[in-house]
Amino acid sequence: MQAQMETVKRVENLPIGVGGAAPPERLFSRASHRNDTCIPVGPARIGAPNFVVIAGPCSVESRDQMMETADAVKNAGAGLLRGGAFKPRTSPYSFQGLGEEGLKLLAQARMRTGLPVITEVMDTSEIDLIEAYTDIIQVGARNVQNFSLLKKLGRTRKPVLLKRGLMTTLDEFLMSAEYVLASGNEQVILCERGIRTFETATRNTLDISAVLVLKERTHLPVIVDPSHAVGNRRYVGPLAKAALAVGADGIMIEVHAHPAQALCDGDQSLRPEELDRLMADLKLMAPLFGRLM
Ligand code: PEP
Ligand code: MN
Repeated sequence: MQAQMETVKRVENLPIGVGGAAPPERLFSRASHRNDTCIPVGPARIGAPNFVVIAGPCSVESRDQMMETADAVKNAGAGLLRGGAFKPRTSPYSFQGLGEEGLKLLAQARMRTGLPVITEVMDTSEIDLIEAYTDIIQVGARNVQNFSLLKKLGRTRKPVLLKRGLMTTLDEFLMSAEYVLASGNEQVILCERGIRTFETATRNTLDISAVLVLKERTHLPVIVDPSHAVGNRRYVGPLAKAALAVGADGIMIEVHAHPAQALCDGDQSLRPEELDRLMADLKLMAPLFGRLM
């Protein structure tokens, strides 16, 4: 009875539908799916009680850069490898990514390390190509409300990692996840990556409380990207630990073997030895918070 009441309360807390009508039970909600969703990706598990670490360069830049960084990620004991091939850059004159060549290098890094990989899709026209190379498809912050992209990703069979937008409320974020779920893909991972506020001391403002709200309202895995949240490698480790402590299901962090030479986001990229130290700390902390690493 108590459980039923709780369910009713949760459903009532969902956003009101048009005309004030009670909304149908959303697929993302705990009312529709009580237990935490855990998504297997190769040998990795994304979802409670696991704490997953996804690490790698912002962008795939060259064979040497990708392989050297991939080896560092593997040696540190991370679970998945990231690398962008189609990059959403603010300036059209900035490095835009290697495109399919980047996807090929990422797939080679997967073969070399045995780590599953994740890369970003920016446009519906790229979905088939990217799906052929990657294990998880990432939707970037700038595309979180690209509804035609979300609907098409709902028809793929690969897990989708959805990043919160720079000015997306949590209601809106959950509804974006609903687009993918309602289109037939049950494998959605949410990623808090900082939002835009008045504060300029950090690149964005990490909304750490978003993890608490999301974990209460959805069964989907929730991870944190401290790299894009702060834009400065000095703050990445402490916030990664905060993510573990607050109940996130994992983190995604940028790593580069030679950050000073990075074509994108070098300032926020950890060096391999910094990743090693962070992994060691997280492994010590994980059991205290009931997490498997
Ligand atoms: C990224 O993860 O490479 C990225 C571009 O992040 P975001 O979409 O959160 O800015
Ligand atoms: Mn980046």
